[in-house]
Amino acid sequence: MQRPLKLQQIVPSKVCLSCDVCCRFLDQDSFLAPIFTDSEIETVIADGANSDLFRQMTDGKSAQIKLKPHKEMYICPFFDPETSECTIYPIRPLDCQIYPFALMYNEDRTQIVLGVDMICPFGEAEFQAETFQSYINHIASYLESDGVVEMIATNWSLIGPYQETVVIVRVLEKLNRALIDCGI
Ligand code: SF4
Ligand code: SF4
Repeated sequence: MQRPLKLQQIVPSKVCLSCDVCCRFLDQDSFLAPIFTDSEIETVIADGANSDLFRQMTDGKSAQIKLKPHKEMYICPFFDPETSECTIYPIRPLDCQIYPFALMYNEDRTQIVLGVDMICPFGEAEFQAETFQSYINHIASYLESDGVVEMIATNWSLIGPYQETVVIVRVLEKLNRALIDCGI
C-alpha cells in the first residue's frame, strides 16, 4: 500500500517569526480567517479549545475561526502576539499549513486552482527559485493525494474566492473532478 504523502513546509520558521503578515487581519469578519475541517475542529477541541471559537461554514462540515480584537487589528485566538507563535502549531489546520499557497476558484469560477499569495514576502522573493518551483509540485501532489482530495471536497468551503494578489500556479484537476462527482 502506498504511504500517504506528508506536507513539507517551504517557509523557514525564523522567516515567519520575524514577519507580521500571518494570523493578523484587518476586519473581524475577514474571509481570510482560517477554516478548519470537521476533523481538525475535533482535534483542537480535544486539545482544549472551546467550540464557541468557530462559526459553521456553508458546506455544513468546516468552520471558520472567530477573530478577536487586538490593538487596531484582529487576530486568530490561537495566535500569541507576545511571541508571534501559533499556540496550536502541531495541529494547526491545513488552511494555515499551506500558506502562502491558497486553494481558490479562478476568476470566472470555472476551476479550482492552487496559487501563491504575493502578499507573503517569502513567496514573492522566492517564487522564481528552483526550490520553490519544485515545492509547487510537492504541494499540488499533496492536495490531490488520496484522502486529502476527498477531505477537501467534503469540506469545500476551504476553497476560497479568487484573489488578485494570488498568482495561479496549477489547476487542481482531481479536485475539480471530485467536486463535480459530489454535485458541487
Ligand atoms: S506572510 Fe509568509 S513569511 Fe510572513 S508569516 Fe506568513 S508565511 Fe511566513
Ligand atoms: S491557527 Fe495558528 S497559524 Fe493559523 S491563523 Fe491561527 S495562530 Fe495563525
